[in-house]
Amino acid sequence: MLKSLTDAGIVVVLACCVQGGWRLCPASPNVDGAMVNTMVDARLAAEEDTFWMRRALELAQTAARAGEVPVGAVLVRDGQMLGEGWNHPVSGADPTAHAEIAALRAAASAVGNYRLPRSTLYVTIEPCAMCAGALVHARVERVVFAAREPRAGVVASNLELLDAAFLNHRVRWDEGPCALEAATLMQEFFRSRRQVGSAS
Ligand SMILES: [Zn+2]
Repeated sequence: MLKSLTDAGIVVVLACCVQGGWRLCPASPNVDGAMVNTMVDARLAAEEDTFWMRRALELAQTAARAGEVPVGAVLVRDGQMLGEGWNHPVSGADPTAHAEIAALRAAASAVGNYRLPRSTLYVTIEPCAMCAGALVHARVERVVFAAREPRAGVVASNLELLDAAFLNHRVRWDEGPCALEAATLMQEFFRSRRQVGSAS
């Protein structure tokens, strides 16, 4: 199968699917195989991030339909969903019922272990301090969030807590996939709540 990649011009390479991933075909001429493999791997990783974030967005919409602040989360390991959840502190009468906590609890229960190494948590909004702490306790390897939360977010907006040197476990983090969708969902939710509030 032919794949084309662009890097300072157009580079066309032959790539073949090997063990579930794209690798440079040995017959491809005059290209840096390692560089191309890195680019292909990066692109596949980005597509995987977007795939799981779309599922987290669906869960955020579930929260919105229940009248909860629309945040959804999915915990993934080795390409498999281990647990998922949405924000529901109001209906659950539970201040800890954030989407991340719900996904962590579901995953830990499913595997019978509170530690979830080699896992990635996808969440539609930047985690708060409570959820960032839970990610560390659970030994989650990486968290990916869609949109920043300027007030309560502690990964990038405030504190940069996951990068703190005192922590005994480092959770890598990335942001951005489906950011517009996640932010729009939040804005529409709060706009509709203001309209309901002003009408009553
Ligand atoms: Zn939280």
